[in-house]
Amino acid sequence: MEKNIISVRPMDIRDFADGKHRITDDRPYGGGAGMVMKPEPLAGAVRQAREQMPGCRTILLSPQGRPFKQSVAGELSLLDGLIFICGRYEGVDERIYPYIDDEISIGDYVLTGGEPAAMIIIDAVTRLLPGALGSDESADKDSFSDHLLEHAHFTRPQVFEGESVPDVLLSGNHGVIENWRRESSLMRTLLKRPDLLEKAELSEKDREILKRWCEHIGRVISD
Ligand code: SAM
Repeated sequence: MEKNIISVRPMDIRDFADGKHRITDDRPYGGGAGMVMKPEPLAGAVRQAREQMPGCRTILLSPQGRPFKQSVAGELSLLDGLIFICGRYEGVDERIYPYIDDEISIGDYVLTGGEPAAMIIIDAVTRLLPGALGSDESADKDSFSDHLLEHAHFTRPQVFEGESVPDVLLSGNHGVIENWRRESSLMRTLLKRPDLLEKAELSEKDREILKRWCEHIGRVISD
């Protein structure tokens, strides 16, 4: 925000609620526990946000939405603006859906409100915007950018509690270092998130490395 790469404007939906008490939630029709967010204040807030930010996408944060992934962050980073509807209580009145372009979940668990989910999405999207990361940082090698986890990292000291940095990283040979990083990335993905490998673009050499590691750790994966 300080670099003017993004601006964030929280809106208070109570400003769009009628009546003396400016109520934004009510009991559910049909009975049952919990409260439901009324549609009129939400609709009023979305209408105003859209007027101020034409061409933006309105996103409902919801555990029932499509899963948030790095690819979704990339997709959102190309848009001119985002409106997040942060639910509370049991969620929003169903009739707000005509105002919604997209419904996103940050994971298979239930939060109290959509605000932390919005913050997570804003963070993941912002770091993909030009100028957000420092010149020596790059998002294109990050985990998930190519369906692989990122390679291992080491910094000073060279020896920590008897554990030394791999020699190859001290060699100054960039080709050898790149090969080591690719292998580290493949190995970590195999060990920690083998499900990702299905979508990863793998060369013959990558497949050889994975086979070798599979044999080494006694695991079997299909080609
Ligand atoms: N009753 C709802 C259900 O079971 O689907 C859950 C409502 S939750 C307590 C309240 C609000 O938190 C939701 O309306 C949504 O905005 C937000 N929220 C909860 N979990 C979320 C998740 N995994 N991803 C995104 N938003 C979430």
